[in-house]
Amino acid sequence: MSARSSVSMFTFCRGLAVALIALLTLCESSVAKEAAVTGVRLGLNPPSSAKGTTRVVLDLSTAVPYSAFLLGSPYRLVIDLPEVAWSANGGSKQDTVGLVQRLRYGHFRPGNSRVVVDLMGPAKILRHSVLTGPDRIVFDIVPVGAARFAPGKKVGAKGWEPPTVSAMPLPRRKPSDLTGKRIVVIDAGHGGVDPGAVRGRTYEKRITLAVANAVKQRLEESGRYRVVMTRSRDEFLELRERVEVAHANSGDLFLSLHADTHPKGVTRGASVYTLSQKASDKEAAALAAKENNADTIAGTRIDPAAYSDETIDILRDLQRRQTDRQSVVFARMLTGQLEKNDVGLARRKAHRFAGFVVLKSPTVPSVLVELGYLSNASDRKMLQTSRFRSRVANAILAASDEYFKHVDDLARR
Ligand SMILES: [Zn+2]
Repeated sequence: MSARSSVSMFTFCRGLAVALIALLTLCESSVAKEAAVTGVRLGLNPPSSAKGTTRVVLDLSTAVPYSAFLLGSPYRLVIDLPEVAWSANGGSKQDTVGLVQRLRYGHFRPGNSRVVVDLMGPAKILRHSVLTGPDRIVFDIVPVGAARFAPGKKVGAKGWEPPTVSAMPLPRRKPSDLTGKRIVVIDAGHGGVDPGAVRGRTYEKRITLAVANAVKQRLEESGRYRVVMTRSRDEFLELRERVEVAHANSGDLFLSLHADTHPKGVTRGASVYTLSQKASDKEAAALAAKENNADTIAGTRIDPAAYSDETIDILRDLQRRQTDRQSVVFARMLTGQLEKNDVGLARRKAHRFAGFVVLKSPTVPSVLVELGYLSNASDRKMLQTSRFRSRVANAILAASDEYFKHVDDLARR
């Protein structure tokens, strides 16, 4: 190596060190917490060709590091950031621009926000960079043949990695409630980067959280219940983690709240679902497939081990069958109480069953409630009223009272 090249090498390394220090400073959560994504923009170059370069721009209030990778089936670009605020409007964009079909953004894990971009087909990241003045992160993606598609390879700012799952402490198992109160776990469906069903400015994740809060208040006011929420803010949780909250808190009952869409705009009303390997009807099977897709929506790589054989084996187990029976008993009581409390039921059989992952607890009786359809104008309006939330809360309180009385009666025999 000549003296000259070693000097320039030194300058380069020193430059790198300075860049690294700058990056490490960036990583400090105090900076990240103040950071906000102020806009998400899509562009195409040349403008009229779907085969050109598609540009994804995240406008930032201040620079943050990032990490990104591609995922297949379906094709997605996933961009991880430190936890940031989102002042960009809404949590999803339906725009079809170039390779981009749709995108979502929001909270993913503690310390980790995420953007998931649905792609039309296989692609590669041509360029990615942080630009300053104004601060923004830019991705250029181009289509490639399926054979050249390389999922999972991480690119991004060096020195920053999003927090991993194993670093996340699971809630510790708490002893059963010593006050003798029953523990009801309320799961507000979706959240964070996964908006659930979206119609205009109406997001399923917001409706489910508002209803969950009303239910918690009503149950706790009665003095007979302690309510544990799987989430109490706009955050993402994997389906497995939702079930885990029920176990860790020794839940006596688990209710997952949702609001679906239907291709037919006239379809409306609430339904209660329980777990079954065989679905009650085609529509219930399709709904379970949609709800089970939540982790894919959030760009999580589905780990088959997460839904271990244990769960499948347990399906044959006595405990499993006992839990399933109790779930069905509660589902019937809840269906009756929803009707009594003027929560309109779906015209088809209101209690149905299918293979919902979130209902797979072997020990905690679990039901999933579809409160209504965002695709129906009347339902959509009603789902957002405090009157509706109050009716649902009353129905769940009455059904819980009825259910635990039944459980106590059985125990006394
Ligand atoms: Zn849902």
